Amino acid sequence: MRKKIVAGNWKMNTLLKDGMELAKAVEKLEKEKTSDALVIIAPPFTHLSRVKELIEGVKLAAQNCASEEAGAFTGEVSPDMLRSVGVEYVILGHSERRAYYGEDDELLNKKTKLALAKDLRPIFCCGEVLEEREAGKLFDVIKEQLSVGLKDLTREEMANVVIAYEPVWAIGTGVVASPEQAQEMHKFIRDLLAGLFDKEVADNMTILYGGSCKPSNAAELFANPDVDGGLIGGASLKAEDFLAIANAY
Ligand code: PEP
Repeated sequence: MRKKIVAGNWKMNTLLKDGMELAKAVEKLEKEKTSDALVIIAPPFTHLSRVKELIEGVKLAAQNCASEEAGAFTGEVSPDMLRSVGVEYVILGHSERRAYYGEDDELLNKKTKLALAKDLRPIFCCGEVLEEREAGKLFDVIKEQLSVGLKDLTREEMANVVIAYEPVWAIGTGVVASPEQAQEMHKFIRDLLAGLFDKEVADNMTILYGGSCKPSNAAELFANPDVDGGLIGGASLKAEDFLAIANAY
């Protein structure tokens, strides 16, 4: 049985005090939740060690990590550093990292391998921009991002990977993929994984949807057979909305 996950990407939001309040509120509501979805939060780096002390049922993710182990890489944060403060997951390949910081599939492959070697579970993001969808290239784009990004991973390593399909045109725009569009791509991704790895890897893979997911649309998205949860941006900044999404199963 694959895991259901609802993960909150706080991005570059909240100062420490507000972030700690938000984490406390998420932890409290997680205890009362009615679904069996695993709840993950990804606060900014500066908050991670303090937030870790406040959560028990909620898991901790970072929003990025370095592609190198240690050394002269000013401004970078290594997987070992993240593990040392109790981080278990790391978001890699988010479209904002790809678009604003030039992270390409090769670099993401390197980061993914290092994260896994250091016992961090990648939440690996993929997604097409609107022009690519309109030009009918959406499946080619996702195939390229996943086949290069997950290149040379073993079946065992894949058991610790989560995939997030995040159509870039839906991120932070209020425009959400229709349940049919989400299911179509999630099924494509699962079939692709069966080809790249095998059916067991594909069947066990948690594939999250991301892009303007909120309490009002989560249930219809999650009702799809290949949608195993969500990666939530804006709506994860309000504990009630975030947990309402987690309870939408
Ligand atoms: C995201 O950036 O991962 C995301 C899904 O954002 P939003 O929910 O705000 O569209």
